[in-house]
Amino acid sequence: MTTKPKVSKAELAEQFRSFIDPDYVITDSETMKPYECDGLSMYCEMPLLVVLPETVEQVQRVMRICNEHKVPVVARGAGTGLSAGAMPHKEGVVLSLAKFNRILEIDPLARTARLQPGVRNLAISEEAAQYGLYYGPDPSSQIACTIGGNVAENSGGVHCLKYGLTVHNLHSVEMVTAEGDVVTVGSDALDVCGMDLLALMTGSEGLLGVVTEVKVKLLPKPEVARVVMAGFDSVQNGGDAVGGVISHGIIPGGLEMMDSHAIVAADDFAKAGYPREAKALLLCEVDGTVEEVDEHIAQAEEVFRKFGATSVRTSESEEERALLWKGRKSAFPAVGRISPDYYCMDGTIPRRELANVLLRMEEMSEEFGLRVANVFHAGDGNLHPLILFDSNVPGEFERTEAFGSSILRLCVEVGGCITGEHGVGVEKIRQMAVQFNDDELQQFHDVKAAFDPAGILNPGKGVPALKFCQEYRSLEHKQHKHEPTEAAHG
Ligand SMILES: Cc1cc2nc3c(=O)[nH]c(=O)nc-3n(C[C@H](O)[C@H](O)[C@H](O)COP(=O)(O)OP(=O)(O)OC[C@H]3O[C@@H](n4cnc5c(N)ncnc54)[C@H](O)[C@@H]3O)c2cc1C
Repeated sequence: MTTKPKVSKAELAEQFRSFIDPDYVITDSETMKPYECDGLSMYCEMPLLVVLPETVEQVQRVMRICNEHKVPVVARGAGTGLSAGAMPHKEGVVLSLAKFNRILEIDPLARTARLQPGVRNLAISEEAAQYGLYYGPDPSSQIACTIGGNVAENSGGVHCLKYGLTVHNLHSVEMVTAEGDVVTVGSDALDVCGMDLLALMTGSEGLLGVVTEVKVKLLPKPEVARVVMAGFDSVQNGGDAVGGVISHGIIPGGLEMMDSHAIVAADDFAKAGYPREAKALLLCEVDGTVEEVDEHIAQAEEVFRKFGATSVRTSESEEERALLWKGRKSAFPAVGRISPDYYCMDGTIPRRELANVLLRMEEMSEEFGLRVANVFHAGDGNLHPLILFDSNVPGEFERTEAFGSSILRLCVEVGGCITGEHGVGVEKIRQMAVQFNDDELQQFHDVKAAFDPAGILNPGKGVPALKFCQEYRSLEHKQHKHEPTEAAHG
């Protein structure tokens, strides 16, 4: 826990300006405005100041000063996070890694890339393409989000079903600790001796250290990729077909699902030729050699028909494949056009529960009086319900939050978890009390204290205080029985 900092904003800024270009120590509110939130703009806070160091030594000095004065530090990549993880602390420093944007080395023989943390995810694959290589994890925000943010959130994407999350695609991470030391975790070897601190660091949401360099694995580009699109007249059939494909022994490069709201919105936006009358749509991509792709495509088509697909279409060209994906990739902005606001949830469930949970969500949608559109990584069981609401209608945001909490509670009930890839941040800190008991949460606190004894790194995010959890659980218990009806009336 941080105590109140004993240094003024002016003193802090002066200290930083003694070793960082003064233009990169920002103190006026107008210039700091873009830093007040991440992609989840309903949570925002103005920081004390923002610094943009350019070297690891500068990051070390920032951390030493903040640690000495107990000033909170929030590391920031591109600010595309969707759980308010990069939201500033009002008495703290935002440490932007925007100046760390260089690809340091691509080694085509070892199939690795050494990167500064502010390198954009997509830029890695663009640079590696000259060697026939690419970086596997592909969050939909890849055009903007940074590899440092990806490590902090253990980000995933469409292709993670086959190629793994960020954690599976890393060799090592260099970080600056809360006390200003430089530490490297992981190695080039397949396994490392000692504890797996690389895995611990991945997904630690800026709570354990500031990532200053990342070494990632690169993959050879597949010879060919094709996508099968299958429409279903029920969510049940679509959900069951997901398990059907995997149990058939096919590991698709990507297996995505959309429900009827998302299908129509995405098709209006991208003119992708989706079956607009379908209640569920699956996009199943298979990649590899020409022979294996042809074989798996034929099998996937057969499985979909067996599970009751009402339409099946397979891409015959790269253009057609890109068009089918365009609808999926633009589904979020497309849904943004059919509602004044939407709230993107992120939870994970076991695949076998897909149909059950989607049907329960339809019921909840009626109970809460709010529409929900689903577009998600079905193969991983990673749901992204988009709750549609209007923040100008009094009480509607609160009702949306309550609906979101109920969805996450359902995810936990069926054996899943409260986040698949967006992290806990501020947004889901309450649901951590649903996911974990106090003994489990205490383990997180102990790990945090070992890395950051003064508690200056991203305080108030990721791991809730135990007292807060106890209060939240008892409140939840009381509200649970009445929530939909009470909430539905604002
Ligand atoms: C339209 C859209 C689609 C998205 N789709 C996906 C998706 O498919 N999959 C997915 O996983 N996510 C997705 N996201 C969420 C987001 O893009 C990811 O979480 C991404 O990894 C965040 O990267 P960033 O650079 O923007 O990090 P930020 O938002 O700046 O920060 C995120 C967290 O990482 C910490 N952090 C950032 N840099 C560092 C560092 N160098 N050292 C230590 N901590 C650091 C921050 O403190 C914060 O807690 C999406 C977001 C949007 C807006």
